[in-house]
Order: sequence, then structure tokens, then C-alpha cells
Amino acid sequence: MITIALTKGRVLKETLPLLERVGITSLEDLNSSRKLVFETNHPHIRLLLLRGVDVPTYVQFGSADVGIVGKDLLLETECTEFYEPLDLGIAPCKLMTAGLKGISAPSGRIKVATKYVNSAARFYASKGRQVDIIKLYGAMELAPVLDLADEIVDIVDTGNTLKANGLEPREFIGEISSRLIVNRASFKSKHEQIERLLTAFRNECDQSGSAL
Ligand code: AMP
Repeated sequence: MITIALTKGRVLKETLPLLERVGITSLEDLNSSRKLVFETNHPHIRLLLLRGVDVPTYVQFGSADVGIVGKDLLLETECTEFYEPLDLGIAPCKLMTAGLKGISAPSGRIKVATKYVNSAARFYASKGRQVDIIKLYGAMELAPVLDLADEIVDIVDTGNTLKANGLEPREFIGEISSRLIVNRASFKSKHEQIERLLTAFRNECDQSGSAL
């Protein structure tokens, strides 16, 4: 049995067509069911539906052999026991700093609100800038508006969310897309099956020209 952990939400929308192209179809509609484990057209492949932040944990401990998860979350995770062999090129976006439109960040020490605390700390440290990081779990865009922070670090796709809240992007931190990760022990013990799966994904990514 190969267990693949999928990320709910925006990433799932782009994962399902890719799974179809690779020839894996869930026997039930993942979007309308309340189930978390799904059988597929392959009796030896099942899918888990998880929050992205939990995907590395399931893969680290081998409860899932393979995971599909955004690079933004991989940059934050403490988990290490997995390989990251493939950039699927799906759910592309950018990790950026942002702040109130028309106002530049104050010089000196600034307050930065984000759920991406590790990426933010690394970015500001690389620029030699002093920051106090405030951990939030969502609605980061509110923080500069209500003077909780001078800047935020968040994912930007169209930029509409920033704009709707009177913010603008400032500095680019990194390109983000969803990655395929593999549990290290599974990679050895189920090598043939996982290699076959990887080849199928790799071929699809190459064909669509969106990854690697
Ligand atoms: P946008 O308004 O299109 O710039 O989208 C910004 C918001 O959508 C962010 O605050 C994220 O919460 C979410 N978002 C956009 N793209 C992604 C992605 N690829 N993965 C996860 N969340 C995303």
C-alpha cells in the first residue's frame, strides 16, 4: 500500500487534475465528502486529505509514504525525515513582505507579523535588519492596518488580498510551489512503487512544462 497525503484547499484544486493525468482517481469526490481517507482506482494507493501544515508530519513518521505540500510550509517545518525529489510546479505564488500602501517601513527595528516565522527571520537576518516577529495564524493583512506590525510576510498570488486591505507588496523573498515529498524509509522499502509514481509525476510535470 502507498499512502499519499494531500493538502486541502487551494493546493488540492491543482493537485486533482495532476493526479488524474498520472492515472490516480479517488473512488469518492474528495471535495464533497467528510472522509479523510480515500480509496483510489488503484487498490494499493490511498489518499489522505490533510491541512498542509500536517503533511510533513504524516510523511516524517511514515503514516504517509508520499506527500504533496507547498514549499512555504516545507520552509517552516521542523520535520526532516523526508526527501523532496520533485517540484510539481502547481499552486505557484510568491513569498513577499508587504506593508501599508504608500508608506515605507520605518528605519531601525520593525515589527513583522507572519505565520512564516522561520522564513521571515531568515530573510530579515540576511538583510542585516533587526525585527521583532509576531506569530499569527491567519488574516496577516490586518496587522499593519491595526498597527500591530509595520510589515507582514505572506504569500502573494494575484495581489488582490493585499490590495483589498490597503497594503502593497514590498520585497520578494522566494518563489513558492507545491512539492512532492517522500518518507525516507518508504523510499527504500517501497522503492519500485515509489520510483514508478515519481516517474509518472515527473513525466506529467515535464509535459505541462510547469515544473523543474
Ligand atoms: P492573492 O489575493 O491572489 O494574492 O492571494 C493571497 C492569499 O491567498 C494569501 O494570503 C494566501 O493565504 C492565499 N494563497 C494564494 N496562493 C496560495 C498558494 N499557492 N498556496 C496557499 N495559499 C495561497
